[in-house]
Amino acid sequence: MQADELERYKQILIQMRDSSREEGNRMIEVVLSDAEAAGEHDQRVSESVDKELALEQTEEDRHQAVLAALQRIEQQKFGQCTRCGSEIPRTRLELLPFTPYCVDCAFASSS
Ligand SMILES: [Zn+2]
Repeated sequence: MQADELERYKQILIQMRDSSREEGNRMIEVVLSDAEAAGEHDQRVSESVDKELALEQTEEDRHQAVLAALQRIEQQKFGQCTRCGSEIPRTRLELLPFTPYCVDCAFASSS
């Protein structure tokens, strides 16, 4: 991943880390509507995102996920699935920048 792109995800994650739960949720909505507006509608990606959002992560869970994602940026591992090591699709990172899993692993771990 390019350094400037990494920096952009870092800023998004820092904002998520520092914002309250309500603000964090609003941010996800903004990100989601942006992606739809951009026509980046991958059915499979959006299904997995819906599924993960539907799990209704607690504030603490998401906070931990955001911190872990920031740590992965520092370790140059951001964008790689922590389960299988494959690259997480960009469309998925746009929607869930703090996700540790690729689409396949997200499906595998939630089913
Ligand atoms: Zn994976």
